[in-house]
Amino acid sequence: MEKLEQLYEGKAKKVFKTSDPNVYIVDYKDDATAGNGAKKGTIAGKGTINNRITNHLMQLLEKHGIPTHFVKELSVCETAVRVVKIVPLEVIVRNIAAGSLAARLGLPEGTKLNSTVLEYCYKDDALGDPMVNEYHIAAMGWATEAELKTIAEMSFKINKVLGDYLKDAGIELIDFKLEFGRDAKNKIILADEISPDTCRFWDIKTKEKLDKDRFRRDLGGVEDAYREVLKRLLGE
Ligand code: UDP
Repeated sequence: MEKLEQLYEGKAKKVFKTSDPNVYIVDYKDDATAGNGAKKGTIAGKGTINNRITNHLMQLLEKHGIPTHFVKELSVCETAVRVVKIVPLEVIVRNIAAGSLAARLGLPEGTKLNSTVLEYCYKDDALGDPMVNEYHIAAMGWATEAELKTIAEMSFKINKVLGDYLKDAGIELIDFKLEFGRDAKNKIILADEISPDTCRFWDIKTKEKLDKDRFRRDLGGVEDAYREVLKRLLGE
């Protein structure tokens, strides 16, 4: 399968057409941004690591009955994915308070939530991805009620499957962001990536951060943290 015309270049990935109208190729970059593009840098090896981790976790989810856009890993940083129309929402799943939730509610980072919290943000960089609720989503027509129900159910199931799996690797799944799309048959499937860029991963014992917060907060050891997650999950 070969890359044809480039369709899109995002902050962390490029997307290319292929000769198959139902398949795109995603090419992961080492570029990193934080604070809605305010902070920019590169993380050596990130593209490869995020490609490998994402594909590994997408295949795990498929095994547990979650439909995803994953088709085939083509190289260390390139993957064939099913074409979808992205639902313009970032779905955030939280088990432990951290980041913007900790700040918004004045909770110390690391506070266990009594139940899992789901949040939706409208995907719009110019607006800074504002948080929205079910009423905004219905009013704006971003997803139907039935689609949003599917998205919420899938998100909770993904949280359970990933949480259990990561625990065995000594990683606590604090929170993460998902994106969904509609495939050619209008079915909702999981898209985008699942990586240390989009999840908060803490070492279960030491609580050491093994994710993009090391970059966002200038904690150092960014590459080592990403590599540590790869090693724990894939043994690489
Ligand atoms: N997240 C993401 N992309 C975004 C915003 C958040 O992947 O544009 C992820 C982030 O890595 C974390 C979770 O979603 O795992 C919750 O992020 P939060 O709302 O706390 O935002 P932040 O503190 O990163 O601004």
